[in-house]
Amino acid sequence: MRKEEFNLPSFSKEQLEFLHSSLERMYLFDSIEIEKNRLKVSLSFDCENLAGEIDRVLGVVKSYEVETIYEAPYKNSIHDSIHEKLIDNQGILKFSPGKFLLQKDYLLFFQFIDSLLYSFSQKIKAIEQVYPVLWPVELFRDIDYFKEFPQNIMMVHAVKQEQKSLRDFSALYAKERKEFTSIEQSEHLSPAHYALGTSTCDPCYFAYKNLKNQKASGEFTSLSKSFRNELSKDFKLDRLNEFHMREVVSIGKSEKVLQQREKFKSFSKYLFDYFHFEGLIQTASDPFFTSENLIKNALQSAIQSKFELLVNVGGEKMMSIGSINWHQDFFGRSFGVKADDDHFMTSSCLAFGLERFVYAFFLQHGIEEKKWPEQLRDDYGSFKEIKKKQQTIFNFSSLDKTEEKNEAGPRSEKREWDVDVQSKILSSFREHFSLEKSDEELWDLDKNKLQEWDSLNHLILISSLEKIFKRKVKMKDQLELHSSVKDLVHYFSSKN
Ligand SMILES: [Zn+2]
Repeated sequence: MRKEEFNLPSFSKEQLEFLHSSLERMYLFDSIEIEKNRLKVSLSFDCENLAGEIDRVLGVVKSYEVETIYEAPYKNSIHDSIHEKLIDNQGILKFSPGKFLLQKDYLLFFQFIDSLLYSFSQKIKAIEQVYPVLWPVELFRDIDYFKEFPQNIMMVHAVKQEQKSLRDFSALYAKERKEFTSIEQSEHLSPAHYALGTSTCDPCYFAYKNLKNQKASGEFTSLSKSFRNELSKDFKLDRLNEFHMREVVSIGKSEKVLQQREKFKSFSKYLFDYFHFEGLIQTASDPFFTSENLIKNALQSAIQSKFELLVNVGGEKMMSIGSINWHQDFFGRSFGVKADDDHFMTSSCLAFGLERFVYAFFLQHGIEEKKWPEQLRDDYGSFKEIKKKQQTIFNFSSLDKTEEKNEAGPRSEKREWDVDVQSKILSSFREHFSLEKSDEELWDLDKNKLQEWDSLNHLILISSLEKIFKRKVKMKDQLELHSSVKDLVHYFSSKN
């Protein structure tokens, strides 16, 4: 392990944070410590010209400036154990490390926030869109994403559609073979043609690539899933490797898009006031990986291409719940999309991470509604009322009829017992599953009590009964026959 120390010029708090996150994103150091004017790092492999690399980073940090455009006047004390409370209340259910199912109160509040964001999008007449979560490699290539953000990428590989690969793969990963929790890279997998979408708005621009000669202009909104290969150290809701993003997007000529960005800013300030968030909106930059692109970080903040909505989550720590981005004509040029004959399309987006948004609110205000800001509490109350009624807003009458049909299905029809049928079924049941049980015990048996029950057994039993009774069981009936002895006797006793 190699340890090195460097002197630092006097940096602002923001510059020190930027320095720390930039060094982190180089994926070079085992530890990074910043104390007063000293930087201490340790690394376990050789880096040629480490001093030169650090010097370059420090040069970039010097030109990094942060501008705060809004500081909210609220002070909230942090509810530290909110994550545990949500787990206890089953608002979130653990799925796998760092992954959760959302439901109940948590989901409802999530939908409430989303509906506020959606309402804003409708004030600027945005068209709602649904985006694919698998993005073609071509999209990433066009925007040079693999070079600049390799740390975020999660690729999608299919098994090769050929006999040998399918057979080998199927044998290797059969359930009975071993306890496995990952799939090895191998010759059975085809090259990745897709990666999981790392943000939300890119497909909106990319779609115009195929609309040759169409001038790109308009406002759009989408709620989409985003995927990044990162997890919070303690597996909480602050950093997930898949999360929901609601975005509002404006594309077209720069004058109009920049006007829309001003609306994004005012709406963002409104959100801080509406939710009584302790926090601020300030310029920020994306965590580029390559050090040659590090300069872009500083430039991004200088040209104010990104503002982040930062909320206090305890101590000195801030968490970003959203951002306002001005891409200039980056996507227009990358995808060859024009706003008119002379100009590439420009774009701006307002993006929110919904899981974080909810989490941040609960951290600052807790989950007890009576302690929430008044206006919000009233709105949320009405929202819940509407949600309850929603089922009756539009009545799909044909849907109700389906339920009636099911109730009158074969299982509830009254049929007469046929003792002969009963004994034939009992014996074939006994033979089929090698069961040594009395008639009475068998009678009460259903498939849930049988270890060796599976859908294949079910079909084999049914087909043997078909032979015995010389009668075809209709497909739809097969699905409804749960194959308890009682069910089967009912079925084969009926006349038709
Ligand atoms: Zn975006």
